[in-house]
Amino acid sequence: PSFKELGVIDPLLEALAAVGYTKPTPIQAQSIPPALEGRDIIGVAETGSGKTAAFALPILQKLWEEPKGLFACVLAPTRELAFQISQQFESLGSAIGVRTAVIVGGTDRMDQAVALSKRPHIVIATPGRLQDHLENTKGFSLRGLKYLILDEADRLLDMDFGPVIDKILRVIPKERNTFLFSATMTTKVAKLQRASLSDPGRKWG
Ligand code: AMP
Repeated sequence: PSFKELGVIDPLLEALAAVGYTKPTPIQAQSIPPALEGRDIIGVAETGSGKTAAFALPILQKLWEEPKGLFACVLAPTRELAFQISQQFESLGSAIGVRTAVIVGGTDRMDQAVALSKRPHIVIATPGRLQDHLENTKGFSLRGLKYLILDEADRLLDMDFGPVIDKILRVIPKERNTFLFSATMTTKVAKLQRASLSDPGRKWG
């Protein structure tokens, strides 16, 4: 199928053409339609599969249809991955005016607090630093969140972020969608999946 046939709207089709994505990858073809229907997603996918755009496109489309404050939070295991995800949101979402903030360890907390105060639509974070801001940054919360994305869930758990993720799950709305992507489906990932997802639309891999 084409991106248009998957239900992607024109402003995003133009962005896809501009970045040279002519055809959806398999994970994009499988995850975009159920995500647009409002289902949760479990994706067993490696880096290089196109998984970032698989979750970024439906989120950008929902953001375009229903602009909101803080809309989505992506949890990633490493700073490097968080910045890559942010770049994809920015390049695919520039036409719809998306604002992102990257909240990772090793960079200035105050600069991040300022970035969070500018009302980003998408926060891409490593779990520890996000939890730090949830506890210490006045005025910042995830109360209005519509989407939680757990990217590279197996690595998140291998790096012992499980307890922090449990805390974060307690302060975000139950009425939300969750997308979980993992290169491998381990027992720990399955447990996190049960704790975080309801009604997954597709499972594959
Ligand atoms: P990811 O698996 O999300 O890290 O993406 C791997 C690489 O594939 C990135 O450099 C993307 O820019 C690129 N990519 C993602 N989707 C497509 C697509 N549909 N067509 C061509 N390249 C893509």
